[in-house]
Amino acid sequence: MPEPVIDLRSDTVTRPTPEMRRAMFEAEVGDDVYREDPTVNTLEERTAAVLGKEAALFVPTGTMGNTIAIKCLTRPGQEVICEARGHLLNYELSMTAWFSNCLIRSIQTTDGILTWPMIEREVRPLGPHAAETGCIEIENTHNMAGGTVYAQEVIDEICDRAHERGIPVHMDGARVFNAAAAAGRPASQICAKVDTVMCCLSKALGAPAGSMLAGPKNLIDQGRLYRKRLGGGMRQAGILAAAGLIALERMPLRLHEDHLNARLLASGLAAIPGILVEPEIPATNIVIFDVSATGKSSQEISAALKARGVLINGINATSMRAVTHYDVDRRGCETALAALGEAVAA
Ligand SMILES: *Cc1c(COP(=O)(O)O)cnc(C)c1O
Repeated sequence: MPEPVIDLRSDTVTRPTPEMRRAMFEAEVGDDVYREDPTVNTLEERTAAVLGKEAALFVPTGTMGNTIAIKCLTRPGQEVICEARGHLLNYELSMTAWFSNCLIRSIQTTDGILTWPMIEREVRPLGPHAAETGCIEIENTHNMAGGTVYAQEVIDEICDRAHERGIPVHMDGARVFNAAAAAGRPASQICAKVDTVMCCLSKALGAPAGSMLAGPKNLIDQGRLYRKRLGGGMRQAGILAAAGLIALERMPLRLHEDHLNARLLASGLAAIPGILVEPEIPATNIVIFDVSATGKSSQEISAALKARGVLINGINATSMRAVTHYDVDRRGCETALAALGEAVAA
C-alpha cells in the first residue's frame, strides 16, 4: 500500500473530523437569509462571545470577511494601510479596489508586524493632494512573514492612536487562534481594541468551510447586507456552522501541537545544508525557508518532494512555506524532513 501523502502546503487542507461530520449530519437547520438557521445563529453568538465583540457574521470565506469589513469601515476614495506582504493586498484579487473603491497604502516590514510609528508616517489627512486614511488593517498571525504574532502592546497602541484620529482598525485574524495559543491569552483579549476581526474556521481549526467577521452590531448588520450582495447568503448553512462550532470551541485547544511540530520542522530544516529558515524559530504553525543556497529552485524541490509523497510549495523561486496542522502529526513532520534532506541532496 502506498504511504499517505504528507500535505504541508497549507492548513486549509485539513479535513473535517469524525465529530464534525456527525454534527453536520445532525445539525438543525433553517433559512439563514431569514435568520432562521438556529445552528448559524448559535455559531454567530458564540463567536461574538469568544472574540469579545457585540455581534458576528458567518461568511463563506476569509476573503469575503475581509472584503465586508473594509467596505464597512471605509468610504470610496480613501486609503487602507496594510503591511506589504499582507493577504489583503496580495491574495484577494484587489477586492479593496474593486468592491470598496479604496487604495491600499502598503508598508514594508521584516517580520510582517506593523507598529504605530511606522503607520503614523503614512496616515494622511484629506487635502488637495492626498486621499485620507480610511482604515488600518493588521494581519495576526502574519501568513507570509512566517506566522508571526503581534505583541499585545503593539496592537493596543495602534488602536489607541488610530482611534484618537478617528481611524478604525480591522484585524485579519485568519489565524487569530494560533496567535492566542502562542501568546497564551484569550482571543478576546487580543482583539479587544480592534473594531472588527475576521477569523477562519477552515484553516488550522479544521472546518470544511467558513469564516467569521466580528465587530459592533451596527457594522455587522450592515455587513450582512454586503454578504448578500456578494453572493454569501447561504440558506441552510447550519450544515457548515455545525462543523464551525466544533472548530471554534474544541480545536483551539490543540493548536500548540501544530506549533511544536513547526519548531521541529524548522530546526530539522536548519540542519539541511543550503536551507535558511526565517524566522529561525516559528512562533506558530508556519515555516518559511529559503532554498537558494541549495543550488535548486523551490519548484525543483517541490517536485522531488512530491515524488516522495510530501507536498510543500514554493512562495517564489527561492522561498518555500510549510504549514503544520492536525492532519500531519510529529511523525509526518519527521518523514517530511527526511524527504527534504533527500530532495536537496538528489
Ligand atoms: C487564508 C487567509 C485569508 C482568507 O482566505 P480564504 O481562502 O478566502 O478563506 C485571509 N487572510 C489570511 C492571512 C489568510 O491566511
